[in-house]
Amino acid sequence: MRIGIDFDDTLCDFGGMLQTETLRRWEVDLGALRAAGSRPEDRLGKDWSKLVLELLETDLGLQMPVKPGAAEVTARLAERHELVILTARHDHESVLARQWIEANHLPIQDFHFTSRGPKHEVARALGLRVHLDDTARVFDSFLDHPTTGALLLGSIFDRGDEPAAHVRSVEHWHAFEDLVRTLEEREG
Ligand SMILES: [Mg+2]
Repeated sequence: MRIGIDFDDTLCDFGGMLQTETLRRWEVDLGALRAAGSRPEDRLGKDWSKLVLELLETDLGLQMPVKPGAAEVTARLAERHELVILTARHDHESVLARQWIEANHLPIQDFHFTSRGPKHEVARALGLRVHLDDTARVFDSFLDHPTTGALLLGSIFDRGDEPAAHVRSVEHWHAFEDLVRTLEEREG
């Protein structure tokens, strides 16, 4: 089957890298900030948006870690399936994403960038059987859709949005692998 995978905070640990950098540069702990109900943009102002841009577009982004479990699970999935990146990144942010995938030797066969646009039409056109994403609202438009939506929980940007009933929540990459296996078995 063809499997869609979001890039930021699904495959790469964008949030973890932000956390590392805000601590290193300004001694600001994003986790504590969030627990206190504050937003990083309010605390850090323009420094925050500059840091986000730096991660999206400069070599600093190449240092982002792979999300736990993603390297081994994608390696196993790629033995039987086609893995496709479906990200809302802009085209000009795609360069770094491709370099990062290559540097981390991940078995991705194709890339699709929606430039902050919705993903449901591209998912349909690509014939994705399942799509993994860390943002719950991405799946709002996946109701009665041929692509099963799988929500990866636990990103630092997770706003606690309750996923809709048609979305499957997965706690980590290994649970996503289990979901793929279930879909495979169901379809024989
Ligand atoms: Mg994401």
